[in-house]
Amino acid sequence: MAEKIIGIDLGTTNSEVAVVENGRVTVVDIMPGHPILPSFVGLADDSSILVGEPAKNQYVLYPERTIKSIKRRMGSADQVELGDARYSPQEISAIILRQLKSVAEKHLGEPVHKAVITVPAYFSDAQRQATREAGEIAGLEVMRIINEPTAAALSYEANHQDHKKVLVYDLGGGTFDVSVVSIEDNVVEVLASHGNNQLGGDDFDAKIVTHLVDHLKNHGADPTTSRKAMARITRAAENAKIALSDQPYVRIEEEYLLDKGGMPVNLSTELARYDYEAMIAGYIDETLEAVHIALKGANLTVSDIDEVLLVGGATRTPVITERLEADLNLTVRAEVNPDLCVATGAAIQAGMLAGEDVSAVLVDITPYTFGTSALGERDGAFYPYQYVPIIHKNTPIPVTKSDVFYTVVDHQEQVKVDVYQGEDPDALNNIPLGEFMVENLSKAPANNPIVIQFALDLNGIMNVTAREKNTGLEKSIRIDNVLTRYEEGELQTARQRISRLFGGEEQIAGKTEDVSEHQRMVQARALVEKAERLLDKAAEDDREEIINLIEAIKDALSSNNLDALKEPTSALSEILFYLES
Ligand code: AMP
Repeated sequence: MAEKIIGIDLGTTNSEVAVVENGRVTVVDIMPGHPILPSFVGLADDSSILVGEPAKNQYVLYPERTIKSIKRRMGSADQVELGDARYSPQEISAIILRQLKSVAEKHLGEPVHKAVITVPAYFSDAQRQATREAGEIAGLEVMRIINEPTAAALSYEANHQDHKKVLVYDLGGGTFDVSVVSIEDNVVEVLASHGNNQLGGDDFDAKIVTHLVDHLKNHGADPTTSRKAMARITRAAENAKIALSDQPYVRIEEEYLLDKGGMPVNLSTELARYDYEAMIAGYIDETLEAVHIALKGANLTVSDIDEVLLVGGATRTPVITERLEADLNLTVRAEVNPDLCVATGAAIQAGMLAGEDVSAVLVDITPYTFGTSALGERDGAFYPYQYVPIIHKNTPIPVTKSDVFYTVVDHQEQVKVDVYQGEDPDALNNIPLGEFMVENLSKAPANNPIVIQFALDLNGIMNVTAREKNTGLEKSIRIDNVLTRYEEGELQTARQRISRLFGGEEQIAGKTEDVSEHQRMVQARALVEKAERLLDKAAEDDREEIINLIEAIKDALSSNNLDALKEPTSALSEILFYLES
């Protein structure tokens, strides 16, 4: 049998190693169940070398004997200090590569001598050469250095029969790159690349850190003078950011963060995804500008691109997909784990060099979108069955995602949660999978947040939970077989069946016309709430008009004058419709 060649993603923040076995790619676990090696090297108390997680852990306390982000220095003549010795960037990278080589050997049960290593598309000759040298120092013959976006494209299109042009949007911990990649016959080629090697998920963390520091300062404590406290806050910020990728709120708790006059200072606060997204909006704008620059560099426009592939852990931030879809109108693919797809592509390239037959990566994904319904707007009018997707199709499973919804009236005591499968913006055109009521809500004013969570496992079992955020009151249902329930043909039949149940299209549309007085008031309140949320987005002139309309609606509501409600609600609906579109 031919000698194995391993594929290595030598990243700024994290590194991974993957191998092809029986035509399939395995990203090798560094620790059981955990295939990611933080790109950290450190010296322990006893002067032994630490690599990966233990080095990352001690960075908090001993930054002076821990090295991170060595990739940024590759190709330079810089030396870094570690204990009493000084090392070149190649040597530090070699320590990481040795560790990866060794886990691969353990996994394969045989020695490994050859590797394919990935580098950013913008790496210069000197940087590529330094990477090659790092490999050699680690005892690896570097069979090929390939571009990260090429590797990412390979992980999606191992067989690349298609002729395609894709955008590879890669947002890691500390770097951002977008590349235009052409896939044609047997050639995968980077046509243009643009990015910012000082922008990444760490900057998102930094925004949260600033927010937390301000929060503490507002409470009379200044953590900035304590390195240890700042390190803990930074960790907490990253964890909060990661949590917000799957849920609408996160609690941030750090006990005994500081000592203030002999009294412990605890950090305890909550961050909403909505507020976090506002903090990072400027960064996302910057990445979208880079997309246009890269396209220009390739002499292409968005319409020449078939799809976007997401790479890098930070692309799990949902607003990134939302913005790419909304601003560029492109399909965004993320079914290959964005942390692992570069290593996967490197292994595919390595497998090909070793003469193996490598098929495309198989991952467990949901082929369907699942969501719920809420009061929303359709064509400028209120519609009570607006579909809100929670888990999107092609998401790797198992997966847990949640989003927040709000009650519409004061003292609302119950909410109904509907669970659907499908893509149609009108929930009634999707397949109903289940429903349940959450009762005995606290008698809160309108806009009482209810968090709805969908958890889908590999066996197709979906648990849907609704939780009143302020009280923790919870209700769940379990729905079995959601992944095998409907084949394509059945889907159409089911759709028709459901549509008949509601008496066909006309009647559904008619339903919104025939709303009760109560419903009209509910809708008006929801409209006001929405307008207040969108107020920041409005232009100066619109803003004034919106405020006037809100006032008019509030007056009409408080005097129970339904006739006076009609005009301002329809005017406000119209403005909001344009504001959102
Ligand atoms: P990479 O350099 O590709 O390994 O990406 C690392 C970055 O991704 C770090 O900033 C992580 O905090 C970030 N990251 C990892 N998982 C998530 C997640 N679920 N949501 C948002 N950011 C994440």
